[in-house]
Amino acid sequence: MHELSITQGVVDICESNAGGRRITTVVLEIGRLSGVIPEAVEFCFEACTRGTLLEGARLIIENIPARGKCEDCSCEFDLGSYYEPCPTCGGFRVAILSGEELRVKELEVD
Ligand SMILES: [Zn+2]
Repeated sequence: MHELSITQGVVDICESNAGGRRITTVVLEIGRLSGVIPEAVEFCFEACTRGTLLEGARLIIENIPARGKCEDCSCEFDLGSYYEPCPTCGGFRVAILSGEELRVKELEVD
């Protein structure tokens, strides 16, 4: 399962940033285009944190919407997925502004 290794990676990042202290809250940003399913990460979190500095920690997931910018007409718009054309001019040269995030935004430690 894809999300299991991702969640494991998140736990590793948190532990290496905690300085050996107990982590009480993790805020994780997940972009809509990241391919990561937030519910699956939540599901894996408890199993992945067992026996670590994160055991019992609260997981807060912030979903980041996807935004694109058309390189032809410069309009910005919400993206539902990759390869969506510009709603104004129909162009496909779209730069991704946000939505690919997968990162630990905040940690609260004891
Ligand atoms: Zn356009």
